[in-house]
Amino acid sequence: MAIDYQSLAVEGVQALSPYQPGKPISELARELGLDPAEIIKLASNENPLGPSKKAISAAENALKELCLYPDGNGFELKQKLSAYLGVNPGQITLGNGSNDVLEVIARCFAGADSEIVFSQYAFAVYPIVTQAIGAKAVAVPAKDWGHDLDAMAAAVTERTRLVFVANPNNPTGTVHDSDAIEAFLGKIPADVLVVLDEAYYEYMTGEKDPDGVALLSRFPNLIVCRTFSKAWGLAALRVGYSISSPAIADILNRVRQPFNVNSTALAAAAAVLEDTDYLQRSRAANTAGLKQLQEAFDQMGLRYIPSSGNFVAVEVGPQAMGVYQALLSHGVIVRPVTGYGMPNHLRVSVGLPEQNELFLNALAKALAAAGQGA
Ligand SMILES: *Cc1c(COP(=O)(O)O)cnc(C)c1O
Repeated sequence: MAIDYQSLAVEGVQALSPYQPGKPISELARELGLDPAEIIKLASNENPLGPSKKAISAAENALKELCLYPDGNGFELKQKLSAYLGVNPGQITLGNGSNDVLEVIARCFAGADSEIVFSQYAFAVYPIVTQAIGAKAVAVPAKDWGHDLDAMAAAVTERTRLVFVANPNNPTGTVHDSDAIEAFLGKIPADVLVVLDEAYYEYMTGEKDPDGVALLSRFPNLIVCRTFSKAWGLAALRVGYSISSPAIADILNRVRQPFNVNSTALAAAAAVLEDTDYLQRSRAANTAGLKQLQEAFDQMGLRYIPSSGNFVAVEVGPQAMGVYQALLSHGVIVRPVTGYGMPNHLRVSVGLPEQNELFLNALAKALAAAGQGA
């Protein structure tokens, strides 16, 4: 008798659809027979500047010790981060990307009887980790594409173990200011953990933007997550971290894999933290690129969700998948967000000025073609 091995997987996992990443350049190059150098990928919120030279040389240096296990405690990187953030090293938990930390948090603090609250249109990893551990997802309807923080606080029940808040959120780019985040935290019971995902923290430019780390002393149920994948330009190496109370960090540390961050990644992350010039340039390029894209959308009469990240969700209408395909044929990869329940939008990451320009030209052509073909 044939066994359906998929039916042996735990229930939440059986119903899971995998995270859909942006299309890799190499894949589109194969499909279209194009030179990879002709393709622009603005689909995964990667840093268009390329990596920091300091990070590259630290990574190269680390290659000499490929035969050794990494420092499982990430001592040096935690020292550097603790100085950078003004926290105790014991408050930091390192992860293989912040995705890893998000998953470890869910596994440590929630289970089959728990509810996990997050917003509609929030980062796709929250529903995935929730379902993988068999917890109940409580997706709270968004308000103006952003988190409805009052409704999220009201959705907390005695079964709620975790609340995920992405600030800024991906894929919408929406952000809440420090007053709103503090008011929200004030409403959450002290025995419910709040994960404030600040993957785009370094890109925020508003005066009232919140700094989760500054809130930790007042809200001991808070866990702040940050990453080296975006403004720090190290997405390939997979390094992220959380900052929490030492007690919470101690729990996370028991469950994470012993060598979850590799030596090359540890070395590059420690080095890039000292490259303040790189961070400065990342920020400046992003601010200029966001402006370029948003102004062009205004001129084209396209609606978009004003963004505080390094990407913009632009409304292209019900033909969004057709527009996406047409952009691919022009060698431009963006991100469809149908999986987020946003079938009329495409998410485009901020590129270098010339990449943004090429994307905007291709978009104008794709929209014209979609209009004619409709
Ligand atoms: C990109 C992103 C992350 C970070 O992912 P890494 O695993 O650190 O590369 C986390 N949260 C959000 C909302 C993101 O968009």
